[in-house]
Amino acid sequence: MEVVRQNQDSFQIEVLTAFNNVDLLIRQAVEFKPNLVVIGNENAYEKVSAALQPLGIKVYSGPKSIEWAVQMDTIDIVLTAMVGYAGLLPTIKAIEAGKTIALANKETLVVAGDIITRLASEKGVNIYPVDSEHSAIFQCLVGEFKNPIEKIILTASGGPFRGRGIEGLSKVTKMEALKHPNWEMGAKISIDSASLMNKGLEVIEAQWLFGLNSEQIEVWVHPQSIVHSMVQFRDGSVKAQMGLPDMKLPILYAIGYPNRLPTAFPRMELSACMNLQFELPDRNTFRNLDLAYHAMNKAGNMPCILNAANEIAVKAFLNDQIGFLEMSDLIEFCMGKISYIGKPTLQDYIETDNETRILAQENMRQFAILAK
Ligand code: MG
Repeated sequence: MEVVRQNQDSFQIEVLTAFNNVDLLIRQAVEFKPNLVVIGNENAYEKVSAALQPLGIKVYSGPKSIEWAVQMDTIDIVLTAMVGYAGLLPTIKAIEAGKTIALANKETLVVAGDIITRLASEKGVNIYPVDSEHSAIFQCLVGEFKNPIEKIILTASGGPFRGRGIEGLSKVTKMEALKHPNWEMGAKISIDSASLMNKGLEVIEAQWLFGLNSEQIEVWVHPQSIVHSMVQFRDGSVKAQMGLPDMKLPILYAIGYPNRLPTAFPRMELSACMNLQFELPDRNTFRNLDLAYHAMNKAGNMPCILNAANEIAVKAFLNDQIGFLEMSDLIEFCMGKISYIGKPTLQDYIETDNETRILAQENMRQFAILAK
């Protein structure tokens, strides 16, 4: 909304949606006057409707309304910023309706990247990345026409626990895990960043966005989060995209592409990039990264299993049911138990997601012994 506020002539908000954050949704709708508002949580419909109907703003509720709203004729771009697996079906509906996608919901590509990319190419729909690393790679590729990528380097801040070994992580609390050093983000992605699962999901996301295999995707830890990612071409040249760690920049690039629209956002100064460090991730401590590479190489429904188990693991960690390191144990357990499907249909993904959540929920306690 801050991005749109800076470019009122370029963008008009047509539909706004949120799941539970009623007060913020109402405030935003009052300011940006969308045609329609969808509140995901049906129990909150009365409150949202009472506040907005008098202003001439239509209000609907529930997941089905979101799937319907993204197909409206008056929409050009859908910014998919729902958390986790919930973003999958609305994104499919938006692509089917031919809408340009600004993709902030990486789990959509992790779960069903084959279906999403195939559908987008059938419908001639562009998917522009909002994830900062993928936006960086996209920006590095502009002007490269058909020059193939030799490899990409996704940068990772390393999160709040960079440099700590297994010993140091067995007792960390959710408060510590939620404190990201560079980026301000929601709870799910902050935990994913601390556990390096976020980077694992991004590796799979990059595979689909840029048509790469796992050997072409490297991860380097870069604590300052100034270099947002890099592309190496077949002549050996490497392009990097830099900037302050601020999600407003990749959001603006995705919805404004191919234009760079003017902003009054803070500019990078010399002090921000005087000491840029890079190191390899500690894969023994942060096992999620290898679990993600394994899921990607295995393909089929394995990334879907990884994602669903992770969503349950993160929720359990946030509820103090399992410890930080046990999240990887639970995910690995589910990846070994759920039936593997090599060429899943959408229905297979939906069932895999559901079965994995149940399995993770039922077996959580055996991994929780160390947590207490
Ligand atoms: Mg990212």
